[in-house]
Amino acid sequence: MAAKTRVMKRPERKSSYVRATLQGMALTFRHLVSTVTTGEAATIKTMQYPEEKWALSPRWRGTHIMEQHEDGRPKCVACGLCPTICPANCIRLVPGEDDMGNRYPIVYEIDEFRCIFCGMCQEVCPVEAIHVGNHYENGEYSRDNFVYDLDRLMKQTHPSTLLWDPSDPAGE
Ligand code: SF4
Ligand code: SF4
Repeated sequence: MAAKTRVMKRPERKSSYVRATLQGMALTFRHLVSTVTTGEAATIKTMQYPEEKWALSPRWRGTHIMEQHEDGRPKCVACGLCPTICPANCIRLVPGEDDMGNRYPIVYEIDEFRCIFCGMCQEVCPVEAIHVGNHYENGEYSRDNFVYDLDRLMKQTHPSTLLWDPSDPAGE
């Protein structure tokens, strides 16, 4: 089917931002009055956050978690797959190797501000170390604070995304 082109004409007269602002305020006021006069609970229109919260979608992917061994070491083996596949280029890994030839992350950081929460780091990790989490309340006052280092990633206590089943890590 051939694509149609529609030419939009500029309005002849100047538009008024005052009118649009007043219309918006009138709409807000109507909602305010309707809540009061009908006696309906404000929760119908307003979620009383943070006391009330929406249930997260099972597909939600939020703040990352780094899994750790019982002795406190991160499960990451510094394979380099997640920083390679990350489309936002927000994972920084500096790999190291001990005397036994075991690889581990000397530096592992995720910039949660830059991350687009695609979940590909979780998908690609061969040892189920890094996960996107069932969490979103991670506001900060500076961009630097959104860079989560290894310690901070391991200290996250919220659950992993429901897309990942710890009892069936390979999804079989
Ligand atoms: S969720 Fe996606 S964008 Fe975020 S760190 Fe992982 S791979 Fe990168
Ligand atoms: S994919 Fe997993 S093991 Fe590899 S660097 Fe990332 S977190 Fe570490």
